[in-house]
Amino acid sequence: MYRLPEKKSKRPASWKQLAPSCSRPECTTSGLSGVFHRHSGYWLNEQQWFCSADCLEQSLELELLHHFNLGHRSAPIRTTMPLGLMMLARGVITDLQLRDALQLQQATGDPIGACLQHMGFVSYQDIASAVATQWGCPVFPADSVQPGCSMLIPFSLAERYRMLPVHLVTQGRRLFVAFSDRVNHSALIAIEHMLGCESEACIIPEPSLFQVLEYRKRDTSGEAAVHRPGTAAETARMIRSYAHQSGSEALRLQAIDGNIWVRFLSSRSHLDLIFDTTP
Ligand SMILES: [Zn+2]
Repeated sequence: MYRLPEKKSKRPASWKQLAPSCSRPECTTSGLSGVFHRHSGYWLNEQQWFCSADCLEQSLELELLHHFNLGHRSAPIRTTMPLGLMMLARGVITDLQLRDALQLQQATGDPIGACLQHMGFVSYQDIASAVATQWGCPVFPADSVQPGCSMLIPFSLAERYRMLPVHLVTQGRRLFVAFSDRVNHSALIAIEHMLGCESEACIIPEPSLFQVLEYRKRDTSGEAAVHRPGTAAETARMIRSYAHQSGSEALRLQAIDGNIWVRFLSSRSHLDLIFDTTP
């Protein structure tokens, strides 16, 4: 499997690692008892350590409550010049073509890029370069997609946000993540935290993205996507149960627009669990 090498400083390398104290303020385990519990406890996001599944669950509930209270609102979309106008300004299409495409858009509800492409006015490559200008990022050459790179993130997230890790510069720990119609910055931030790398957005033509997604779909082992439970308490309980079952020692947790991505890490493997808010 294609893996990002684990950071050397995966855990705080200090006396804290040898005798960690529980990060849950109400916990009664303190002082040297961390020495005896450090093999049974859980690290969360490399920052916090919990002495027991109970402490983990209760702290997770508090953290999750925050995401639950935020609701399902997506992060505000950065305002950019509309795609049709962008292509008009670049001389890719004429105003007559734009008008025809806008009429088709009104009738079908399809995105303007798809309408322009459908009418034969532009190519997918034209759309990709206009989207790239909109978002101020490069177009990624579709034939340079690293095989297997898409395995770095769960399929369900790749599909939902129409994004794909396409190139990993291992030395610099920099990951190029491709989108086709809009860049999702919350998703990029989540990827950075989860994989412990820098990320860089880029655009690839839609058919190339779908082609890799189709390929990526074939292997969804090591991930589970479930509907997000109604309460933070229930979600925390599920995470605790997964942590126990997978024998993991460390967890990473990130929220993307209300969806929760949890990665359970054990010495040999990892498991991704996605709590989806889609009704
Ligand atoms: Zn504790």
